[in-house]
Amino acid sequence: MRAAVLTEYGEPLDIQEIDDPESASHGVVVDVDACGICRSDWHAWHGHGEWADDRVPLGQVLGHEPAGEIVAVGDEVTARAVGERVAVPFSLGCGSCPTCHNGHGNVCANDRALGFEASTPGAFAERVHVPNAEYNVTPLPDGVSPVAMAALGCRYVTAYNALARRADLEAGEWLAVVGCGGVGLSAVQLGAAMGARVLAVDLDGAALDLAADLGARATVDATDDPVKAIRDLTDGGAHVALDALGSAETFRTTIDCLRRRGRHVQVGLTGEAERGEVSLPVDELTRNEIDLLGARGLSPTRYGDLFDLLAGGEIDPGALVTREVSLDEVSDRLAAMDEYGVTGIEVVTDF
Ligand SMILES: [Zn+2]
Ligand SMILES: [Zn+2]
Repeated sequence: MRAAVLTEYGEPLDIQEIDDPESASHGVVVDVDACGICRSDWHAWHGHGEWADDRVPLGQVLGHEPAGEIVAVGDEVTARAVGERVAVPFSLGCGSCPTCHNGHGNVCANDRALGFEASTPGAFAERVHVPNAEYNVTPLPDGVSPVAMAALGCRYVTAYNALARRADLEAGEWLAVVGCGGVGLSAVQLGAAMGARVLAVDLDGAALDLAADLGARATVDATDDPVKAIRDLTDGGAHVALDALGSAETFRTTIDCLRRRGRHVQVGLTGEAERGEVSLPVDELTRNEIDLLGARGLSPTRYGDLFDLLAGGEIDPGALVTREVSLDEVSDRLAAMDEYGVTGIEVVTDF
């Protein structure tokens, strides 16, 4: 089968013919219909993450936002069947530890990250193997297109986890979303669907226009004192602020724009400039009783909550998709992220 392989950090991915995956006894093989291209792929492609012992090895097949159809099922898997269309999380739980049993498989201590480690090749390929499939794989509701499924990928589910599960966002609250790439725009649409009053913050006019279409009540140009703009618009600060990018600047904006007892959610990962560390205004956190939260993916046991919103028509992940590309174009699209040249979510649909 064809697959896009990381052979040199920052160089074009190598499109290779490699062996088809075989299913482990606990796994399934999924024929990939669509796979989103994400800033996490961009971080991996650049070799980021060595500061957290999290650098993706050379030889890796990238791609972690697949949707597709099961084509092979392991001996021990009885709950899934060939022909089912499924969602696959990037953060794969073992399914048997206390963390997984308690519904937090996205942070399982034995987790495997699809497309980020040698044992778990990713889905920039015609087919992908998913381990511990009974825990990790969720059948999709009828009527959801493969492209919308891929857009749900890691970004939509992460935004859902961040807002609904971590920050306990409530209807009527002010939500500031700082950074309107894929996960940020997902948070804008979800926040609006949850009844929050959403402010979208970005440097890019096209991203802000898309955010307005997706339900942002107002947009804020990040070049022009965004903290003051948010404080003015919200009459004292946001209740919840989400840093969707992960730079020192966006982190500081999300902290500083909060009102007393506000909740900050960190979703974006840092790059070369910060290498995993940013400074914190600790006195301010104390004085104002600010909560600092992190969010990564969503436990597969919670996908049903999101599918309910989909079925009710309250969210539309497909509306975030701005481009469909082929496997051969993935490298160009990753390179475009260097200059923040990507608006919305781009999805590979031609393998
Ligand atoms: Zn586990
Ligand atoms: Zn992703």
